[in-house]
Amino acid sequence: MNPLQQALEAWRGVLGAAHVSVDEVTLRASATATFATSQHVPAVIFPSTTEEVRQCLRVASTHRVPVYPVSGGKNWGYGGRVPVRDGCVLLDLRRMDRVVHFDAVMGTLTVQPGVTFDQAWRFLREQRARFFLAATGGPPQGSLVGNLVERGDGVGPAGDVFAHACDLEVVLPSGECIRTGFGRATRAPVSRLARYGVGPFVDGLFTQSGLGVVTEATFQLAPLPGCFQPWMASIHDEEALGPMVEALRQLRMEDTQRTPVFVWDRGKALATLMQYPFGLTGGRTPLPPDVMEALGKQAGLGCWMATGALYAADAGQAAACRARVTSVLGPRVGSLVFGDAAEDAVDHPLLGQPSSDNLRMLYWRKHAPPTQTPDPDRDGCGFHWVCSAIPLTSADATQASRITRDVCSIHGFESNLAFITMEPRTAYALAAITYDRSRAGEDERARACHDALLREWMSAGYPPIRLGIQSMDRFPVATQEDQAFLRRLKETLDPHGILAPGRYSP
Ligand SMILES: Cc1cc2nc3c(=O)[nH]c(=O)nc-3n(C[C@H](O)[C@H](O)[C@H](O)COP(=O)(O)OP(=O)(O)OC[C@H]3O[C@@H](n4cnc5c(N)ncnc54)[C@H](O)[C@@H]3O)c2cc1C
Repeated sequence: MNPLQQALEAWRGVLGAAHVSVDEVTLRASATATFATSQHVPAVIFPSTTEEVRQCLRVASTHRVPVYPVSGGKNWGYGGRVPVRDGCVLLDLRRMDRVVHFDAVMGTLTVQPGVTFDQAWRFLREQRARFFLAATGGPPQGSLVGNLVERGDGVGPAGDVFAHACDLEVVLPSGECIRTGFGRATRAPVSRLARYGVGPFVDGLFTQSGLGVVTEATFQLAPLPGCFQPWMASIHDEEALGPMVEALRQLRMEDTQRTPVFVWDRGKALATLMQYPFGLTGGRTPLPPDVMEALGKQAGLGCWMATGALYAADAGQAAACRARVTSVLGPRVGSLVFGDAAEDAVDHPLLGQPSSDNLRMLYWRKHAPPTQTPDPDRDGCGFHWVCSAIPLTSADATQASRITRDVCSIHGFESNLAFITMEPRTAYALAAITYDRSRAGEDERARACHDALLREWMSAGYPPIRLGIQSMDRFPVATQEDQAFLRRLKETLDPHGILAPGRYSP
């Protein structure tokens, strides 16, 4: 028997034959992403407990068979469930789908990796929780833990997901199991409430890395606001992007606007509202700017839209913040509209309600509309993300936008760009390249566009904040010493290289 067959035998012993799949349909689906991939997945294994994960990793080490963990497996645009390297067995954690603990007073939620945003949302509603999740604009079937280990971004005061998570349970490639923060010292309740613990703070090592499998994590939820007030601003002139960004930085830095603001260009907004108007262009792509502008006007869109919300303690605080937003942002935008201030709001995407709405964007260049249960891998949707950090300044937002428009246009795509003011001084720039995989040559063209945009942003001083399997080989490391340090960490924790080889490693 070869090492893979020996490992499969051993995994069947640990998990039962029903939880070790070599079924062709499963394997093909596991190797399919929203762009071209060549990786072969030889098997998928489904542990249901931390103990089983430990044993699975021991087997992998013994037989030197690499495994690749996935939780929700909906990392669309970054590679979905597909491993970075060829020949990895998928360690699919979806059976570990238990909410382990909920503290209704402190607002913490402890979950296993298979718990999805949709499941957690329903759980919190059943509990009549006075707290909400930092849900993402992504698929409701994505998992909290998968999002955390990518250092994802969500809505509301806990939108910087990693900054609001603690007490990780991690299985190391050796099969040893550790806890982080105060969890290393005690199982007392304080371990779910405080992030740092005592001694080295190691949580970050297990995000954007291949150093451990996170089997449990605690999320510090945001309290539902006493008064919730969403707002939207739009501008109708590209020149106004800079002044709007300056106003947003001012509001973020002075803490009037405590939470991320989402700034979308017209191309992104249109792609979530409709599909490409092939009829209007006689089948030609990309969309000519005048047609895009006309469609945007029909839909009531500006050239850029900023969406945010005030999460206030009461109506008085909301009114004061609203007055300040009006005076700082109002003069710099074409329109600024506040939604109704609500004292008992719960059902709203900016209050963590998961939604599939943004997945429509992946069907922009498809001829058939998305079904009730969109599955971009199955439906041949082409989709790449390119994500970088930029200083939150007028000059940088304008430059990042110009680069995106130029690069996309050269490669035959519309700009589909968002800025998220995740921190007061920086924004994430998120560009989406969306296309139809069934059209000959599109996979190659979209990949070239992805690579060029990543390169151009890097040379402008905007490094990536997150990489996909298509860009792991662009992992930027400034010096050989930085590279050696990361390699030494990997070799120490994973001497046989059996965990997620190639994932965020130089
Ligand atoms: C239209 C659209 C909008 C999106 N919007 C957002 C957004 O607003 N914010 C955002 O952050 N993302 C967004 N995403 C990206 C992605 O869908 C989400 O981040 C999603 O939550 C990822 O979770 P997952 O469970 O699917 O991750 P998975 O696919 O399970 O995992 C992601 C990666 O983490 C690693 N991993 C997974 N589980 C573990 C584990 N337990 N231990 C160690 N490593 C592990 C895997 O190796 C994998 O490569 C969006 C995607 C789309 C298509």
